[in-house]
Amino acid sequence: MKRPHKLGVMGGRKAGISRSQKPILQRHLQAHAAVINNEAWYGDGEPSFGKTFTAAETAKRHTLVIGLLYRAAKKATKAKDTELADAYSCLADKLYACRPRFRCGSLACAQCARAFQKAKVVRRQII
Ligand SMILES: [Zn+2]
Repeated sequence: MKRPHKLGVMGGRKAGISRSQKPILQRHLQAHAAVINNEAWYGDGEPSFGKTFTAAETAKRHTLVIGLLYRAAKKATKAKDTELADAYSCLADKLYACRPRFRCGSLACAQCARAFQKAKVVRRQII
């Protein structure tokens, strides 16, 4: 079985989404872009999730996850599972490249996932 390792957003037809659903997907893509292009979501402004989820603590977790992924890739390489090793490496590289003004937008990224969570909380407070 081939594992999916291409990370990123799949668009319309590639993802097997009908035309009637596409506007919803586009709205989600716009919301996604709005979060990753606004550094305010990555800071320590409101809403606050407590001391364990400050921007600094999240950055530490981000670094730990990247280290884990590279180690997992190395282990998969030793086990001769190159496809899995590539998937781990690809994700680790993506997370490693995540930085202000060049956010990865992956929910596997501690910093981006926190930003999305903050945006969701604010959106929910508005509704
Ligand atoms: Zn990220």
